[in-house]
Amino acid sequence: MNPFKAALHIQIFFALVIGAVIGLFFNPGEEHLEKNLTFSLKYEQGKVVVAEKEVDEKGNEVLVVPEVRLSAKEYSTRYPNLPKLESWKETAKPPVIEVTKRHYRLIEDAKSIHVTYCRDYNGRPVITTENLKTGKEIADKYPLFAKRYDSYRSSWSRRVTVISKTVGDIFLRLLKMVTIPLIVSSLITGIAGLGDAKRLGSMFGKTLGYYFVTSMLAITTGILMVNLIRPGVGAILPGTGSVTTFGEQQSLGGVFLGMIDNMIPSNPVAALANGDFLSIITFSILFGLFIVTAAEESRKRMTGFFQSFFDVMMGMTMFIIHLAPIGVLAFMTYATASQGPEIFGTLAWYMLTVFLALLVHAAIIMPLILKFVAGRSPWAYAKALSPALMTAFSTASSNGTLPLTMTSVEKNAGVSNRVSSFVLPLGATINMDGTALYEAVAVLFIAQATTGFELSLGTQIIVAITALLASIGAAGIPHAGLVMMAIVLQAVGLPLEAQGIIIAVDRVLDMCRTTVNVWSDSCGCAVVERLTKES
Ligand code: ASP
Repeated sequence: MNPFKAALHIQIFFALVIGAVIGLFFNPGEEHLEKNLTFSLKYEQGKVVVAEKEVDEKGNEVLVVPEVRLSAKEYSTRYPNLPKLESWKETAKPPVIEVTKRHYRLIEDAKSIHVTYCRDYNGRPVITTENLKTGKEIADKYPLFAKRYDSYRSSWSRRVTVISKTVGDIFLRLLKMVTIPLIVSSLITGIAGLGDAKRLGSMFGKTLGYYFVTSMLAITTGILMVNLIRPGVGAILPGTGSVTTFGEQQSLGGVFLGMIDNMIPSNPVAALANGDFLSIITFSILFGLFIVTAAEESRKRMTGFFQSFFDVMMGMTMFIIHLAPIGVLAFMTYATASQGPEIFGTLAWYMLTVFLALLVHAAIIMPLILKFVAGRSPWAYAKALSPALMTAFSTASSNGTLPLTMTSVEKNAGVSNRVSSFVLPLGATINMDGTALYEAVAVLFIAQATTGFELSLGTQIIVAITALLASIGAAGIPHAGLVMMAIVLQAVGLPLEAQGIIIAVDRVLDMCRTTVNVWSDSCGCAVVERLTKES
């Protein structure tokens, strides 16, 4: 069999496996720290100073991570399992903390150097992550890791990571290049083809209903799983040092006002230029609707024009899609070369909970919906969608995958352009089952790991509702779910820094939840097509 002539999904599958093998081979692994560590606590001018020091080769004490100064309150929320301030504040001798199992890793991609440092305090793991720009910054902030970075710089591991990230990003750029014109032409053609506003209204209602029901099912599955597995109990506390937290302080109201602003562009041309999905969708829908009501001659000319525009964009997209195996290979290589096996071990129960919940949703709940609501064979549908699903998995971006999702749904699964052009672009922005489920699991995991935090039914309901809203607000780009998590954490009063502990494994979970996001959007097409046909 000539691998270059094989069906696209077979090619992508091989690319995925080969990329994973290459990446695993070039994974630089983690460095263990054997030396004695002094972890000291001081109380100075009303602040707790937390310093983690090691003796270097010359016998000097050097800071392993930058020292942090915290208020008494920050100290107690960030380090709930360290000795209470009152117990040592007045004593001459600050407490000694036993630190065991220490390891760290450095990964450089095309844009930055990622530092991840893990250790156990009093038997509990702690992870610090930070993104730095230059080797000099490592020498200044993490002097003990600088030597390792010097040898890493000239290694094949680094080259493979940088090259695969660069090639993967080029593929993603190509996909993004066609996304906006494809959405616009596809939506306008689709809506103009619907014929009237009433049919649009019915489709709109059914689509939103589908988004809501499936997202809530996903969240419920996630919450049940966390309560069953309880991955956070006795596990982890937030990292020390300069923990990177994603997401700013944003209120729910702010996010929703922002969404409404986003939905009605004051300048549609600017919206197109900035790639604001929601604005573009609203404008294109209205444009399509008013084509229908325009005079016969204009209507024909416009419909013809956008149909041709759409055909050309489809041709261009199909061409780029042939490059998908290369893009997927690059992304998989990058993903496996840059993730750490031991860090996964540290957060294994948490990751397992997310995986299992996603699996139940994608492999049990969605197929049931496909079979009984849409009347489709789930297996055949998944096969038709496989190029899109595998691309979503490797790129972790539903927006980026959109051109592939559209072509797979229309050309392989035979869904009409009217439905797919409406359900998919809107779904890529607001229907994210995987992300919604992930938000719920991650926040409840953090809550379980935070000692003394009450996990009542009320709290879980708040988590469910805010997780839904956060998933609606999240953009279809890598790590968007992590950014939006700030909203859910805030809603139940958990510290934002708590995210520090899960950032280290976010990429892998992002890949899985993005696949579920795209899968749910695609199933939505089959469901909406069936429901609107019968009405
Ligand atoms: N990466 C996801 C997506 O593109 C969003 C998320 O971070 O959850 O669908």
